[in-house]
Formats: sequence, C-alpha cells, structure tokens
Amino acid sequence: IPALKITQLTKTYPNGFAALKGIDLTVPQGGFFALLGPNGAGKSTTIGIISSLFKPTSGSVEIFGVDLLKQPAKAKQFLGVVPQEFNFMQFEKVEDILIAQAGYFGIPTKEARPRAEKLLKALGLWEKRDDKARMLSGGMKRRLMIARALMHRPKLLILDEPTAGVDIELRRSMWDFMQQINTEEGTTIILTTHYLEEAEQLCKNIAILDQGEIRINTDMKSLLTSL
Ligand code: ADP
Ligand code: ADP
Repeated sequence: IPALKITQLTKTYPNGFAALKGIDLTVPQGGFFALLGPNGAGKSTTIGIISSLFKPTSGSVEIFGVDLLKQPAKAKQFLGVVPQEFNFMQFEKVEDILIAQAGYFGIPTKEARPRAEKLLKALGLWEKRDDKARMLSGGMKRRLMIARALMHRPKLLILDEPTAGVDIELRRSMWDFMQQINTEEGTTIILTTHYLEEAEQLCKNIAILDQGEIRINTDMKSLLTSL
C-alpha cells in the first residue's frame, strides 16, 4: 500500500473557484516527494485537505490504506503536518509543547521526554527547551513545528514550504535533518517548495501542480535529464 493515494480530488471553494480539478497522486512508502508549482497552483489546498483543515468537494485521500474522509482519527495517527504559519501557544515552553503534542496522541510523558530530547538536539533547539515559544526566532519556531509534528513518529510527514525565508546555512542543516528522518526512521516525506534546488537535493519524485491540475509527475532524475 502507498503512503498516500489521492484519487480524482477536486476542491471548489464556496465562491465557485475550482482550485483542484481532479488530481491523482500516489506516493510510495519511504518516498521523498516534492509538490511544486507557482503561486495559486493549489498546493496549500491539497495540503489543507490532507491535514483535514477542510474537506474536498469530491475524490478520496488514503493514508497508508486508510480513507481520510471515512476514518479521520485513524488516518491522522499516521500523519504529521507542518503548516506554514505558527499555530502553537506562544506562552508555552518549548519542551512542554512537544510533551503536550505527544499527549494528544496518547503517548505518556515518560515516553515523550526522550523523544523530545532527541528531536530538540537534532534540530538545534535543546538549549531553548525551557524558553517560551514566543522568545524563539522565526527559524527556530519553524524547527519547533517540525519537532512537534514528529513527536508521535508519523509514518508520513508533510511539510508546507519548510525552509521559506530561512538562510542558506540553516536551510542546509534542515535538509540534513529531513534526509535523516527519511532514511533512519523510514518516514515518507512530502514537501512543497518554491526552491527547485531544494527539491533537487532531497526528493526522489516530483509532481508539478498548475491551475489545479497535475502537469508533470516523474522521478527527479528523468526530470533533470529532460531539461
Ligand atoms: P498555492 O498554495 O499553490 O499557492 P492555493 O491552494 O493556496 O495555492 O490556492 C489555489 C487557488 O485557490 C488560488 O487561486 C487561490 O486564490 C484560491 N483560493 C484559496 N483559498 C480560497 C478560498 N478560501 N476561497 C476562494 N478561493 C481560494
Ligand atoms: P482536533 O482534530 O481534535 O480538533 P486539532 O486539530 O485542534 O484537534 O489539533 C490539536 C493540536 O494538534 C493542534 O495544535 C494541531 O495543530 C495539532 N495537530 C493535530 N494533528 C496533527 C498532526 N497530524 N501533526 C501535527 N500536529 C497536529
């Protein structure tokens, strides 16, 4: 079974705008997949549906064989999502945010602590563990959101523009981290990005979305040799 299987997905917003016009997308287990496309292509709409922020107009989404619309709670166990905007409690402490997230998935504090420690160290946030989230820089908040999404060891991690606005040095270290999660923990990763270089560095497969339709869906090697 694939990590993600999207079938004939459409989304028409209440104002009548068709943001997704029937997309099909399959991401194999263990894959590292890039979803690229210009502004307005429908990337955030796709991610919004996968992360259950809103429902599609038609079509289906299966996560490790579980239908997201029919069994959302079960499907969400497999899923970690890192949205673009920060949505955690600004007045909570860094480590507490991670422990609370684990609790949300039924993981006891005793198990959550070593997981939090590992992720905070790997993401360069260990020294900040007792700071309130609002004290962190933008890049640190972004890394905290990645750590939070990984607390319950999701089998599928979805990152919406994970390195937007991050300087090149930090971007490289985030690339290393994502690669490590993909290879060492076997987590399937899907990311959206504006940086073609990012997709080129990290991703085995790539789909290009444009005006609500998939234009290209191929492996990175073929794409690069066809240019
Ligand atoms: P991307 O993430 O690729 O930039 P989006 O998924 O955010 O694209 O948007 C796709 C299209 O849907 C855009 O034309 C956008 O203006 C439109 N859109 C997004 N949200 C809404 C909404 N709530 N109502 C109407 N149109 C929307
Ligand atoms: P519910 O689905 O029960 O309404 P929420 O969607 O409000 O719960 O989620 C509670 C918290 O957990 C929020 O901060 C939300 O962003 C976060 N969250 C939920 N699901 C995930 C996930 N799969 N990965 C990362 N964070 C998640």
